[in-house]
Amino acid sequence: MQNEKVALFIIFGGSGDLARRKLYPSLFRLYQKGYLDQHFAVIGTARRPWTDDYYHQIVTESLSDLQATDEQVAAFASHFYYQSHDVTNAEHYVVLEELAKKLDQKYELQDNRIYYMAMSPNFFGTIAKHLKSEQILTEDGFNRLIIEKPFGHDYQSAKELNEQIRASFAEDQIYRIDHYLGKEMVQNISAIRFGNNIIESLWNNRYIDNIQITLSEALGVEERAGYYETAGAMRDMVQNHISQIATLLAMEPPVSFSATDIRHEKIKVLRSLHIDTPEEARRNFVRGQYGPATIDGTRLEGYREAEQVASDSKTETYVAGKMEFENYRWAGVPFYVRTGKRLAKKATRVDIVFKQLPMNIFKTVSDDDKLGDNVLTIYVEPTEGFGLRVNAKRLGQGFETRPVDLDFRHSAAAAGNSPEAYERLLLDALNGDSTNFTHWDELSQTWKFADVIEQVWAETTPTDFPNYASGSMGPEAATELLARDGRHWIYDPTQALPKE
Ligand code: NAD
Repeated sequence: MQNEKVALFIIFGGSGDLARRKLYPSLFRLYQKGYLDQHFAVIGTARRPWTDDYYHQIVTESLSDLQATDEQVAAFASHFYYQSHDVTNAEHYVVLEELAKKLDQKYELQDNRIYYMAMSPNFFGTIAKHLKSEQILTEDGFNRLIIEKPFGHDYQSAKELNEQIRASFAEDQIYRIDHYLGKEMVQNISAIRFGNNIIESLWNNRYIDNIQITLSEALGVEERAGYYETAGAMRDMVQNHISQIATLLAMEPPVSFSATDIRHEKIKVLRSLHIDTPEEARRNFVRGQYGPATIDGTRLEGYREAEQVASDSKTETYVAGKMEFENYRWAGVPFYVRTGKRLAKKATRVDIVFKQLPMNIFKTVSDDDKLGDNVLTIYVEPTEGFGLRVNAKRLGQGFETRPVDLDFRHSAAAAGNSPEAYERLLLDALNGDSTNFTHWDELSQTWKFADVIEQVWAETTPTDFPNYASGSMGPEAATELLARDGRHWIYDPTQALPKE
């Protein structure tokens, strides 16, 4: 049995997609592992008038993919209570507080509360305000606010939202979710760097030529089109997830592996993130939008054909670009990043490309015969692990070299055991550990960075949209972006024998 946690969860948006697909299964896994046992309760709120019984059915259905006995599921679901609640109505908070108090006594929850904002960001500020004004926040236990993305639409709106929330919660009570930070291999970036002398010693601009971060998705926008149309890939992926991964790769070793020390280093390195001028943004970033395609006889619709998307939409479903950290460690090393929908394969990975040796003493054909690049790859999804590409002698006569891949992947069984990101983040919040959540200082800097690019893009209408076919690896301009610097994308699943 694990050390049991004690808390009341109040989930705003308890009938929504996120609650059903992620939160209930994650809470259940914490229950199965004993982190949640007798002393927890969940209040799900949404506008609809549901009964507790009906809510239990919803919770039970959300667990259908998990291995569990009926008794276990029923015992877990019995901790769930439904409260019909309009978050804009102050009186409803009074009723909510009555139920919260009752559950607090019944389950001996020590006034510990976790408020989860699983609903539209338009309501985040209102909820935070009412939690304070209607005195839902407790005096004795902890009060922690978990808040979903998107956190703002640009720097200004993010700042306003932050001010609204900070009027009720202190920074150390706010847990801003970036679910990428809950992924096993993203966390493993720190283990690889700070647990291995041979890696950390080379982790700088003397040895590393460039770093490539790829978050490619095979799916299109699907049912998120309405939201996506107002956001685009830059806001949806680059400003948050990609920037966070880049930050973990770039930060200095923290004094200790505590939340405070890591945060300190993340904020410090983000201060050195180069904010492009508009002219640089035009050169350093490319955008794309997927068009239709027929793959294996199946027609995939283009982005502009999706429901809730304008037929002349200029929303980007693809971004590739160059980030730079201007400090001693990284000056001169580009961090190339890319993300997109409807790409050839779903993959999240980081490729760290090392500099070439000064010369190739094995060259056989011509003077510009180059050795293969040494590449350290961190695989985040769909498999977890890492690989190192080195050069070795080709078997047989002569002295030609060939790249050899040293590869470590978690076995399917181990990966199955790796806690899903939301489960890990919920447990972190229960433990009061904010290492894997984003601090306002980080967000404000990445918004400033993204804003310049968004502004430049807003000024011009892309004439070539859609500019990449579903199932490709994005627009030609993304290849040119690296070619211009004499480089190429390491990961290309459209080529023969891709490594995934
Ligand atoms: P959803 O539309 O499925 O659910 C919204 C919930 O809010 C519903 O329960 C609805 O009843 C409730 N609601 C709406 N107006 C209300 C009001 N005035 N008072 C009370 N309740 C009200 O949305 P979702 O997909 O679950 O997303 C929730 C949040 O999580 C959003 O911020 C979204 O961006 C974020 N998010 C979702 C996912 C996902 O996989 N669904 C992933 C990442 C982030």
